[in-house]
Amino acid sequence: MNFKEELDKNTALSPLSKKYENLTIRCLACAHKCLIKNTERGICKVRFNKAGELYAPKNYVSSIGIDPIEKKPFFHIMPGAKTLSYGMLGCNFKCPFCQNHTISQILDNSEYQASFNKIEPDEIIKYALNQKAKIIVSTYNEPAITSEWSLEIFKLASENKIKCAYVSNGYESEEALNFLQPNLDFLNIDLKTFNSENYSHVIGAKLENILKTIERAYKMGIWIEIVTLLIKDFNTDDNQLNSMAEFIANISTDIPWHITAFHPSYKMMDTPATNQIIIKRAFNIAKEKGLKYVYAGNIQSSDMENTYCPNCGELLVKRNYYSIEYFNIKPDLKKAGKCPKCSSPIAGIWF
Ligand code: SF4
Repeated sequence: MNFKEELDKNTALSPLSKKYENLTIRCLACAHKCLIKNTERGICKVRFNKAGELYAPKNYVSSIGIDPIEKKPFFHIMPGAKTLSYGMLGCNFKCPFCQNHTISQILDNSEYQASFNKIEPDEIIKYALNQKAKIIVSTYNEPAITSEWSLEIFKLASENKIKCAYVSNGYESEEALNFLQPNLDFLNIDLKTFNSENYSHVIGAKLENILKTIERAYKMGIWIEIVTLLIKDFNTDDNQLNSMAEFIANISTDIPWHITAFHPSYKMMDTPATNQIIIKRAFNIAKEKGLKYVYAGNIQSSDMENTYCPNCGELLVKRNYYSIEYFNIKPDLKKAGKCPKCSSPIAGIWF
């Protein structure tokens, strides 16, 4: 299958654009803000300029399925909730450690194969309702490059009392975040490194733009959880770990931070898997900086995937990978969460 051709057939005019002279347009969907000449494509390759109009993908998925919300990962949202996840094709980043490179980088690699299934937003909602999913998540590839279509899905989802989320690299523009409001409830952001050179040379992005998205989304009242895949010699030095933890804590010590272990993949097959010593060190640094909810992933982590009361230490949620083995958070008068022992508020959307 020629994915570029197939993608181009399933597109619609994008309102996230600005027109200039000579049929040139600027895409406003992500912080790259590509200036795209007539007949050319943006960095993500899935959005293109045809006769001075910007077109963006819609009406297909490369994969769709039901997962527990913990798998995204979101640990402070409706524990155990069934979640409909859908993904498309393409990405605005070029991470050499991408675990989904066969879908994210397919437009640059004609030898990659992926599924391409046409689907309408109401069919996605029907599937979610049939499966009793409480949340719909755009994930697997980068959602920021298809926000127009996600908004169509999210509006229908909201009408059916289904919450909506992105699992994203955090490169949404301010315009895109405003465009998605108030239909984007939860945002999981991948903070890949705190080194500007790593972002610009290895990934092809600017660190400051991801940091701005985290700050903006928090101010907009979107529930945020942050994930960092720890890769030895890329983002595991004390300087970066301290800076990342400090940055998150300065916004709010209530934001959960998931530190996950890298396993060799894609262009980094020679880089060793991240060991438990590194994960534990990052975990301790995050705690020292005052973060209340820090979690370890992709590793035999015992108690590092549980939630404890930050005030009295009571065990509140015991997890085993993606399953909830014990849940001990009580609703307060406003149906937010509190510790059953000391009544301290526990940040999240628990009920
Ligand atoms: S989504 Fe981002 S990368 Fe893609 S065309 Fe728009 S600005 Fe460029």
